[in-house]
Amino acid sequence: MDNTNSHPDDELLTAYSAGSLPLSQALCISTHIEHCSACAQKLQRLNRVGSELMQNLKPARASESLKSKLMDQLDSLVEADADDIRPEPVDPSIPRCLRQFIDEGYDGLQWKRVSSDIHSVELCRDSNGAKVELLKIRPGGSASTHTHLGDEYTVILEGSFSDESGLYRKGDFLVRDKNDHHTPVATQDRACICLAVTEGPIQLTGFFSRLLNPLLRRAHA
Ligand SMILES: [Zn+2]
Repeated sequence: MDNTNSHPDDELLTAYSAGSLPLSQALCISTHIEHCSACAQKLQRLNRVGSELMQNLKPARASESLKSKLMDQLDSLVEADADDIRPEPVDPSIPRCLRQFIDEGYDGLQWKRVSSDIHSVELCRDSNGAKVELLKIRPGGSASTHTHLGDEYTVILEGSFSDESGLYRKGDFLVRDKNDHHTPVATQDRACICLAVTEGPIQLTGFFSRLLNPLLRRAHA
């Protein structure tokens, strides 16, 4: 079923099709596309246009870095093929492109406590320094108001959350830039697990208000 209502924009999909996105961002797009038939179809069209363009280009000498990038991509394709013949993992709801990081389901991961509402587990680091992690927000829990030094990409894997912009469900893809201040709150029915890619360290912005809260409560008691 395809319930997604928040998608990568055309610019991101085009860059993904051209293979020019950092791996961490490409991982988010791949994850979304497994849940979204509309973007999967759009991507097929972009790939077709791309291959027609390639056919019309005059041959040029490929640079060494491009050659090694292509060889890396071929290697990962071979690895992906090898994945196809592996037995299904314990939890088939885990997106295929994340199974290399998650052997024994979400419960088998080494979750670390970030706050009373949030646990996280780092999956890998991109060569550009971006952090690829899973975040788990408890039912009804809130991720502190935060901002970040770079863009933040999020894909919902399980459950749902809402923030100042609306409600997001499994498969939804979001980009927040460093000027967005947002407070995701998981829905009450179940924990929300997200794939998150952050380009820079997160800065908490709610610190002083949290310090003041107990004083304010006492003043009203
Ligand atoms: Zn989509």
